[in-house]
Parts: sequence; C-alpha cells; structure tokens
Amino acid sequence: MKGAILKDIEKLEIEDVNIPEVKENEILIKVKSCAICGTDIKVFHYGHKHIVFPRITGHEVSGIVEKVGKNVKEYREGDRVAVAPAIPCGKCYFCRKGQQTMCDNLTAIGYHYDGGFAEYMLVPENAVMNGCVNKIPDNLSFELACLAEPLACVINGQILSRIETGDTILILGAGPIGILHTLLAKINSAGKIILADISEERIREAEFTGAYLVDMSKDDIYEEVRKITDGHMADKVIVAVGSRQAQEISLKLVAKRGSINFFGGLPKESPFIQFDSNLLHYGEFFVVGTHGSTPLHNKIAIELLSTGRIDAQKLITHRLPLEKIKEGLEIVENKKGLKVLIIP
Ligand SMILES: [Zn+2]
Ligand SMILES: [Zn+2]
Repeated sequence: MKGAILKDIEKLEIEDVNIPEVKENEILIKVKSCAICGTDIKVFHYGHKHIVFPRITGHEVSGIVEKVGKNVKEYREGDRVAVAPAIPCGKCYFCRKGQQTMCDNLTAIGYHYDGGFAEYMLVPENAVMNGCVNKIPDNLSFELACLAEPLACVINGQILSRIETGDTILILGAGPIGILHTLLAKINSAGKIILADISEERIREAEFTGAYLVDMSKDDIYEEVRKITDGHMADKVIVAVGSRQAQEISLKLVAKRGSINFFGGLPKESPFIQFDSNLLHYGEFFVVGTHGSTPLHNKIAIELLSTGRIDAQKLITHRLPLEKIKEGLEIVENKKGLKVLIIP
C-alpha cells in the first residue's frame, strides 16, 4: 500500500509499504478520507514526544472496514466507520471515573500507532475494545465523517465550558476549530456568538456562520465585545488558537462569573502567560483548559454531522490525493484554506 511516511522531522515520503497484518482483536480500515489537523503541522516540523520515527501520522480518519480479526464481533467487513484516535485504557482511575480524556495510559492513533495518511490503517486492540471505532450512517459522507474528530474535541470543550442557554460566547480564532465552536455554540442555545480573528481572510471565510465577526486587524476587540454585550462582556470565552496574546487578552474579555477555555495549547518552548491576577480575584470567573475527546464525544459528533445539525460542508476547502500531502500541509500552515482532506 502507499503511505506517507514521516521518517524524521520534515522528512515526509510517499512509499510502498506492506499492508499491516490483522491480529485476532484488531481491525483493518481502508482509509477513505483523512483530514489534516493543525497538530500535523507541528508534528511535521518539531516531532512529538509520543512519536518514534518512522511513523504514518493522520488522526482524523474515516473509512471502510476491510478486515476484522477473528475475535472481533462488533464489526464486519464493509462497515463504514470513523475512528476516534485517542485510545483510553479503560482501567485507570480516570477512565473508571468516566474521564477518559484524562486517562493515565492514553495512547493515540497517528502518534503511538500509524495513522490515516495511507491507503490502509490498522486499528489496535485497545481502540477496538474501548469503542473508538464508530459506525457511520449511510447518509454521512466519508469526507464529513472524518471531521467527527475535531468536532468531538469541540464538544468536550463546550461541555467543560458549561455553556448555558442565552450565554454570549466569544470565540478567539476563526480557523476550522473556531468555526466548529461557533456552529456548536448555536445548537447549544448560545445567545450572541462573537467570532474574532487577527486575519481578515479568516473573517471573510467565516461569514457563513452568521456569527458577529470581529476583524482584530482593524477593530479593537475589547471595544467591540463591550458594545455587543452592553458592557457586561462575554459569558463564555473560548480561545481556539494557540496564542499567548489571545490567552492574555481573553482575561479582559470575559464577563464576571463567566468562564474562559484555553482550547489551543501554547508552544512547549514558551508556555507561560502573564496576567493581572486581580481580574480573576474580583471577576470570579473560571478558567479551564480542554483538549482531546472520548469515543462517546466522537459518536455524538457523528450524530450532529449526519443529522445536519452541524453543517460542516463549508469547512472543507481542499481535497488532495496522498501524493500531494506536502502541498496540503502547506495550505494548512499558511492558512490558505480551512479543512484539507487527504483522499488516499
Ligand atoms: Zn486533530
Ligand atoms: Zn485509562
């Protein structure tokens, strides 16, 4: 089969490799669509603590079950599926509490195991056993189904942000994740939804969401949020970008007793931010960070996508064959599109 093999930092090559052997508790997927995530760009340039080269990355995957191990009863050849890449162990303290994103022994497809930038992908035993393989309904395209993974992370984020009916939600960062947050906030009964970005182009691409858009390259975000909220500021702020400045400014944009979610992680070389702690002391707001998702969040994401309650079609701006994966990485890195899909 063809696979995009990341052999070392910035050394990505398309090669012919053996189709993985399927052991008794595993499943082999024929990959139909694998979306490029911002994390794939980071991994390409800097590697990752859980990745030992060579590795096939790609963790936003949908496809068809090609082969099932002899002990696997829940799936059969030909099933259309989306795969939740984060694999909880199911046994640790946090898994037993139902907090699988916090699993002490979490592993992930595309990191510890080969991922979806290839013609076939093996789903390891732990993923099969812990519900990471979700069947998708016939009406849901493979293209939309692979977006279940980022949407699942957004669902986890909004659950922990404790969005309430009528809340004014401010989302900083209008990339694919910011847009998914906007679409989900709508069906989570948010009141006003404000989506802001420092890129004019990003703001233009987000027009279809119907959110209040703030182009931070022209307008002062503090003044805009103040105007839109009659001075009380945003009940819930979601920082959907890995930016120190965005995290720092969010502390001034949140309403009293509101909450901020640091959804985007900061680069590991500079993870510190500075803020006036009295804002927190007097504002009594909550700060939470979220990342990742559980198999259940992925299942919910598939339902929202297949029923059309989240219409993510406009997020898909590019489709490329595996051979053009480097082009795809560049498009995502230079923010020249929203979701770029690799169709192997
Ligand atoms: Zn992702
Ligand atoms: Zn666990």
